[in-house]
Amino acid sequence: MPHYKDQIPSKLPEVKTTIFTRMGQLAHQYNALNLSQGFPNFDPDPKLIKLVTKAMNAGYNQYAPMAGVLELREVIAQKIDTLYGQQYQPDSEITITIGATQAIFTIITAFIGHGDEVIVFKPAYDCYEPAIEVNGGIPILIQMNNKDFKVDWADFRSRLTNRTKMVIINSPHNPSGTIFSDQDMLQLQQSLTKTNIIVISDEVYEHIIFDGNAHHSASKYPDLASRTFVCGSFGKTFHITGWKMGYCAGPAELMHEFRKVHQYNVFSADHAVQRALANYLKEPQHYLGLNQFYQEKRDLFQSGLSHSRLKIRPCMGTYFQLLDYSEITQEQDEAYAERLVREKRIACIPISSFNTNGLDNHLLRFCFAKTNDTLKSASDILCSL
Ligand code: PMP
Ligand code: GLN
Repeated sequence: MPHYKDQIPSKLPEVKTTIFTRMGQLAHQYNALNLSQGFPNFDPDPKLIKLVTKAMNAGYNQYAPMAGVLELREVIAQKIDTLYGQQYQPDSEITITIGATQAIFTIITAFIGHGDEVIVFKPAYDCYEPAIEVNGGIPILIQMNNKDFKVDWADFRSRLTNRTKMVIINSPHNPSGTIFSDQDMLQLQQSLTKTNIIVISDEVYEHIIFDGNAHHSASKYPDLASRTFVCGSFGKTFHITGWKMGYCAGPAELMHEFRKVHQYNVFSADHAVQRALANYLKEPQHYLGLNQFYQEKRDLFQSGLSHSRLKIRPCMGTYFQLLDYSEITQEQDEAYAERLVREKRIACIPISSFNTNGLDNHLLRFCFAKTNDTLKSASDILCSL
């Protein structure tokens, strides 16, 4: 094939294949235990699969409505109201998307243009910055400290300019496993009053939060909610990352702009899955038990590591555990992670890929959304390092 690399400049010259794809391929090549990309290695509830089959047999095989199946939007609105006390109108304030990734990309595309600044806290999940850059925006990176990954709100305020158009937050936080407190949310709300700054609150791990901590959704804070898109993912909550189903909730005027892009980007998300989720979500125990379920996995994994030379970082939410390997070696995290796959047959994610300028603090991320057998085998390997 002829190629035109020199004549057609890349819009994203610095972007490489994601670390998830690279580590996943390496894990496959070496037949390693794969605790890298975040997905469960167990099946979703058979009831949910039956509901999808039922929806397909009932004929829900053509396009869903553009904004999503109304019944599903209604049950999401009900759930947010019950959990966080905010009312969203199902018809105008909630849209079903192809995973949270599409929601985030579409929000950024709807609002960010050339020269607009978007604040991103680092380390950050990897889909934010390319979406900003491909739209001509400028990511303003605020690196959180490596000890407790707390935001310094005074520093945050000093980074706001008249070009700041958007802020992206993520709690529970991938990859650190930390959470925003009520105080953090109030600080954010307070810092943005009297501005027109839009917030993306990436809350895909809202139901994976431990030790009795509460999730402080942006939807709980009226002034914050009035400028925020809250993004959710059923992939995380129902062990169905491959179904790529998510949603966003936000005020009607903002959602109106969102849908202008959404309707030409994907038009709508999978119909049968939406019908199934509309039914499945009616029973709160289907998601309220998830904290306990993953807390047991976190505890099992952590206790298996008690004799290891890896230092366990606190994990308050998400299904990721950070481990500090600085007592074992001073190698770069990416090189060490690759060596672990080749020599120890275990795959993880090096944290430098989420940091500003690849900052390397010798931290590796392990996904514990795995069967107990896998977690035991993984901790045995890690104890041998
Ligand atoms: N945000 C964060 C923080 C994530 O970890 C993920 C997981 N992949 C996503 C967004 C994307 O979610 P989805 O798979 O629903 O697109
Ligand atoms: N959210 C998943 C993780 O953090 C990865 C999804 C992806 O591969 N883009 O591991």
